Amino acid sequence: MTARIIDGKALAAELRAKAAGAARLLAEQHGVTPGLSVVLVGRHPASEAYVRSKAMLAIEAAMHSAVHKLPETVSEAEVLGLVEQLNADPKVHGILVQLPLPAQVDPHRIIAAIDPAKDVDGFHPVNAGRLATGLPALAPCTPLGCILLAKTVHPTLAGLDAVVIGRSNIVGKPLAQLLLRENATVTIAHSKTEDLPAVARRADLLFAAVGRAEMVRGDWIKPGATVIDVGINRVTTADGKSRLVGDVAFAEAVKVAGAVTPVPGGVGPMTIACLMLNTVRAAAAIAGAPVSGDR
Ligand code: NDP
Repeated sequence: MTARIIDGKALAAELRAKAAGAARLLAEQHGVTPGLSVVLVGRHPASEAYVRSKAMLAIEAAMHSAVHKLPETVSEAEVLGLVEQLNADPKVHGILVQLPLPAQVDPHRIIAAIDPAKDVDGFHPVNAGRLATGLPALAPCTPLGCILLAKTVHPTLAGLDAVVIGRSNIVGKPLAQLLLRENATVTIAHSKTEDLPAVARRADLLFAAVGRAEMVRGDWIKPGATVIDVGINRVTTADGKSRLVGDVAFAEAVKVAGAVTPVPGGVGPMTIACLMLNTVRAAAAIAGAPVSGDR
């Protein structure tokens, strides 16, 4: 069997076009241009590149976007002050504080200070709680992207056995909540799970969000399963070059799975596209306009 390769780039481009259309409609009908503000603290080349692409794509999607750069030495009070200012700014509908933050700034305090209505990353405890209790919520972008990718293979996820490897607050846990909302039967695995390969082999839908290069081998995958690889790991190859790989051994997975996402070009582009959708949805909700559906 050779798995179908799920094209995250193409789906992300479609979603961004959809977000741009919804943003233009909001501007025409309600006079509101969605605005995304990104807070970047210190210098992390990977974060800077990511934020630059977020800003670029926001503009492409007919939104305003601003990047607030703060020095590595900034105090927690100064970051909180900026968040308060953005909370109060009517032109800002989405606030994203890029993680990681320097040691003197507590990420939990910063996230808790963001207005939940503008929390387009979906990390605020109010949004996490709303998601867990089945209320409408701004859900985290990477898990949202994973669901949309899985739905390109299975229009309905109801009744499927889903295994999520990883239980972080930004990927594993919200992904499990979204899968429950889709009526999948969900198992969350982590570093203390016993016989992880056997647990993974039960999955019709296998999600790997671990951060360990190519940990999920071909013989962990049920034949025909759909595999969504969240991992982004930089490795050095035998010839000394550096390249990105996922948490799944892709060359093995394509021989067993029914469908699999590549790294890069799978989940990564979907994260930014879902951020655009969340920003439009937040702007619509704040403006009291009908909220555009993303699924
Ligand atoms: P975290 O480090 O926060 O969480 C990793 C999870 O994996 C933990 O729950 C941990 O378990 C579990 N884990 C670690 N080792 C093992 C193991 N040997 N067996 C089973 N479970 C294990 O990572 P994130 O959730 O933030 O990110 C996961 C990956 O996804 C990373 O590669 C990251 O770069 C990538 N990522 C990609 C994004 C994208 O846009 N494509 C966005 C966000 C992340 P325990 O809780 O027991 O410690």
